Amino acid sequence: MNAPVLPAGGGCRTAPVLKERGQREVFCGLTGIIWLHRKMQDAFFLVVGSRTCAHLLQSAAGVMIFAEPRFGTAILEETDLAGMADAHTELDREVDRLLARRPDIRQLFLVGSCPSEVIKLDLHRAAERLSVRHAPHVRVLNYSGSGIETTFTQGEDACLAAMVPVLAETQARELLVVGALPDVVEDQMLSLLAALGVGPVRLLPARRIDATTGVGPNTVFALTQPFLGDTHAALERRGARHIPAPFPFGEEGTTAWLSAIAAEFGVDAATFAAVTDAPRARARKAVEQASTALSGKSVFFFPDSQLEIPLARFLTRECGMTAIEVGSPYIHDALHGPDLDLLPAGPQISEGQDVERQLDRARAARPDLTVCGLGLANPLEAEGLSTKWAIELVFTPVHFYEQAGDLAGLFSRPLRRKSLLHLEAAE
Ligand code: SF4
Repeated sequence: MNAPVLPAGGGCRTAPVLKERGQREVFCGLTGIIWLHRKMQDAFFLVVGSRTCAHLLQSAAGVMIFAEPRFGTAILEETDLAGMADAHTELDREVDRLLARRPDIRQLFLVGSCPSEVIKLDLHRAAERLSVRHAPHVRVLNYSGSGIETTFTQGEDACLAAMVPVLAETQARELLVVGALPDVVEDQMLSLLAALGVGPVRLLPARRIDATTGVGPNTVFALTQPFLGDTHAALERRGARHIPAPFPFGEEGTTAWLSAIAAEFGVDAATFAAVTDAPRARARKAVEQASTALSGKSVFFFPDSQLEIPLARFLTRECGMTAIEVGSPYIHDALHGPDLDLLPAGPQISEGQDVERQLDRARAARPDLTVCGLGLANPLEAEGLSTKWAIELVFTPVHFYEQAGDLAGLFSRPLRRKSLLHLEAAE
């Protein structure tokens, strides 16, 4: 049903991958807390870390004035190195204080970080101990957001993977949609699935712990984010089956994603067309309007968010761009294979990073647009390259039909800005 047309010259799934294991320039996994704490309305993220971690979170998330924050940092001072038992006691005391003050908290995540004293602290054991102590009102889990172990979107993956083992067991045949989406986008997705007659639909993460998200051998799951490799593995360990599909970016990606689910649930072609024809036409029109500045231009992706492969597919197939290099921190065939099938052969596919060597390749290629992390964007702009901050793609609603035009607009804005600057300079 509505299978996308494969590229005439072949796709990139079997293309040789340049694997690099050098220095990398990305945010750490703590960054995920910024969108996860908004999504999970009864959760609290307690980072066990240093002042650097606290500064990162505060500057990235801003200060919430009207609501009590749902994240914080327990700063482990170097003096704590003297005794881990003391550190555990202190952590227990902090958690007791927090939960006594905030009865709205139902899920508490202890989030590990880089400092050596934190690494030595067994947060898994702490979470088990605190779970017993605060059950049944509060569930305590742990994961690592450390920059040594995670790139920035891996924080969400680690968080969701930590939740999978404690999901209720179910024998029901249900669709589990996995990945944190802004509420407005999630509602659009749920209404499309309901109109197709697909259900029951469960969500991970759910907005609240009491939601009936379960997992079992009759669960099928679809991912909305391409960075959920560990969560994918954890769900398979619970017996759930993945529905492989391109990711729902752009008109084509959204249609292919919905189509894979529709096929799994036996939705007929007439129903599929009745539900999707109008939003598809709207999305195509919006992308067409927003992508005039992109057509015929080249793009180079540094590895950052793991969104790179599906976005390269969107930009090349729907916006008329040519990809020079598509770098991703990790490439996972079960997740990225369907998008690689559709990405026209030609770009260098790279996994991991050796930042200096990759910068040399970008400088040699002089792409019209470079998608990269914040740390690389300014130096490249100073060298005359137009850049797009990868992090914006994670913080902006970009999934599904109604956001397809905005997604193209995010990429065309830096090119338009540059041509305006040139115009002003010429006047
Ligand atoms: S987890 Fe590590 S990389 Fe992230 S803010 Fe803390 S110290 Fe820095």
